[in-house]
Amino acid sequence: MSHRPSLKIGDYTVTAFSDGVFETSLDVTVGIDKTLTQRVTGKTLADPVYLSVNAFLVEGRGIRALIDAGSGETMGPALGKLPENLQSAGVGLDTITHILLTHIHPDHSNGLIDGAGNPWFRKAELVVQETEIKFWFDRDISQAAHARQRANMINAKKSLTPYVERTTRIHDGPFLPGIHAMMSPGHTPGHNTWTIEGGGESLIVWGDTIHMAFLQLIHPEAAFVFDTDPQMAVASRLSLLERVRADRTRIAGMHLDFPGFGFVTRSGERYCIETD
Ligand SMILES: [Zn+2]
Repeated sequence: MSHRPSLKIGDYTVTAFSDGVFETSLDVTVGIDKTLTQRVTGKTLADPVYLSVNAFLVEGRGIRALIDAGSGETMGPALGKLPENLQSAGVGLDTITHILLTHIHPDHSNGLIDGAGNPWFRKAELVVQETEIKFWFDRDISQAAHARQRANMINAKKSLTPYVERTTRIHDGPFLPGIHAMMSPGHTPGHNTWTIEGGGESLIVWGDTIHMAFLQLIHPEAAFVFDTDPQMAVASRLSLLERVRADRTRIAGMHLDFPGFGFVTRSGERYCIETD
């Protein structure tokens, strides 16, 4: 593999771990003409699109924090591989000190528990934006806007309940030394990015800012049926893309091709992600 699965940011080592691959299609795009998506990508609406599902382990300063928890056993056999991938790299699940969520969606939070409903991470503190947990976990299921949101709320209640005594609700700002939270809302109401800083370097783990790089870097206005507020998701995407491009901040994405690290560049109207 030509890409490094891990990099150093100050005292921290950040390592990408795969939960597997999510199969979807261009049919889930909204806010962009379907003919245009097909022309730009050379795919039909029926063609499968395979997206990496990544998580990132941040180690150093006595901390072993996992950013996102994968899908667990809820999304089929091509996913849910995070626990075994961590263990086979020698990372005992009981040694994880924190789970820092980017957001509460099946491929990021259902993997907090195993198929029997028991927590995979028995010692970890769960850390989540207040806005996010209020929307998915605190509200009554009858308040769901549609069937998929309802299913996600049911899964959120199952996955987060075993952690309820050790959950920390946060707002934007520093959380651990050199690690801070910043919302980038729209994909979900409290969709969050995690910035890791140290030694003059920084990395933004940007969650689901981009799902389909081959489409959304060229047409950032392409949103998804999974976006709670597609217009806000587009605005957040544009502002973050522009910011990390302008100051050349390294990024890591949950659905960028594994391992998901890169830099955003732009030529004309098109963004690019360069790996190194
Ligand atoms: Zn996702």
